Amino acid sequence: MTEMTKNPEVHDDSVLNWARDLIESSPSHQTTAHEVVHAVNKNEVWRGRECLNLLAPEAPTSPIVRKLLSSEVGIRAAEGHIGPKQRWFAGTQYIDEIEALCMELLKKAFRSNYADHRLIASMLGNMTVYAALTDPGDPVMTLSQPVGGHSSNRNDGPAGIRGLKIHDVPMDPHELTVDLDAFAKIAREVQPRLVSLGASMTLFPFPLKEMKAIVSEWDGKLFFDGAHQLGLIAAGKFQDPLNEGASVITGSAGKTFSGPQSGIILWDDPSLTENITDTIFPALAATHQVNRVAALAVAAAEFIAFGQSYMDQVVTNAKSLGKALQSHGISVLGAHKGFTETHQVILDVKEFGGGYDVARRLAEANIITNKNLIPTDRPEDWDEPSGLRIGTTEITRLGMKEAEMDYIAALIADIVKNNTKSDNVKNKVLELRASFNELQYCFKE
Ligand SMILES: *Cc1c(COP(=O)(O)O)cnc(C)c1O
Repeated sequence: MTEMTKNPEVHDDSVLNWARDLIESSPSHQTTAHEVVHAVNKNEVWRGRECLNLLAPEAPTSPIVRKLLSSEVGIRAAEGHIGPKQRWFAGTQYIDEIEALCMELLKKAFRSNYADHRLIASMLGNMTVYAALTDPGDPVMTLSQPVGGHSSNRNDGPAGIRGLKIHDVPMDPHELTVDLDAFAKIAREVQPRLVSLGASMTLFPFPLKEMKAIVSEWDGKLFFDGAHQLGLIAAGKFQDPLNEGASVITGSAGKTFSGPQSGIILWDDPSLTENITDTIFPALAATHQVNRVAALAVAAAEFIAFGQSYMDQVVTNAKSLGKALQSHGISVLGAHKGFTETHQVILDVKEFGGGYDVARRLAEANIITNKNLIPTDRPEDWDEPSGLRIGTTEITRLGMKEAEMDYIAALIADIVKNNTKSDNVKNKVLELRASFNELQYCFKE
């Protein structure tokens, strides 16, 4: 029997009860293990081969990267910094080679003086920045969620854990970038030690140079949380935060950068090096998954080789998709500025049932997107917001171009607006996926 109330969970009880029942009723633990593998395989067939994956934070990793993720080196321990003296364990000479190659490839890919490869998530990168560059109680300014901000820079994330006093970076809801006049006014009052620009909903660049000039009045620093834009930054297709005034960049290796899911941190200023590196180890990383580091190194090499053409097509596709969706009568944010300068397209689907309902209907037709807060929402609307976020990274790596974007926009409009039966649309998605199954912009095995 399952118990519902004794140890209450935040997680969904019905799913946990399914698992408990399965574990209790399985004739052996091997059968249970088989169920895990079965779920992995079902996901691989469905999401991997039968869906249009339009989730903005996802990217398909190349065959070599995927293979390295299950390599032998992933069971080895290598706490510490690169080199024999600064590690706890002997026997790490090949691991040193892997890590040194990864770090140097990251520096090359991002044209930065420094990089670190040991963050198993970008959340930890943000924790590193707050620990290394602020003291508890310091005022900071960050973006709120309805204008695109991320929890990691808010009260309920690393910035809050650090005990920082968080003020909002004011955004212009129409231009979808920072409202510089309002920023100058608030910033001069608050005098933030750090201003974080971390946008999960990201369409246009931020005025970093102008913001840097303002915070320099009291020696404040800019922190660019480029979780989403990391690949675009490496390819030189967005903005160049370190050259425009940011002291440090963090980002997710598995979003547009298309490497293994984990974090990257980059900086140029040697005076930050000790603080940042000593925060990563020993504070936030110990066994840092060297299989993942190897995969990240290869992803960086692939990005140096193919990143420019890859990201170029990602942005071209996003613009095409935005334009086509708008022509179907769906409201697309940033239309007056060409829809987007990133991999993302943001829709206002309030009149069609809101983001939660629309994302659910699209998923029934094998089109995977996510509900998203948009500037007209309040933070507490997060569970049923007005917006829908779409990303073009995966479909681009599968080789799709502008013609496919027009087709996909029509499929989306069929579900969102025309109430076409999901099975009809799903069949078209299956057909489309059947002809786009080979990853582009990567080394052949
Ligand atoms: C996704 C995201 C993060 C967290 O990155 P992980 O790699 O998932 O830990 C942090 N900041 C922003 C702005 C994000 O969009």
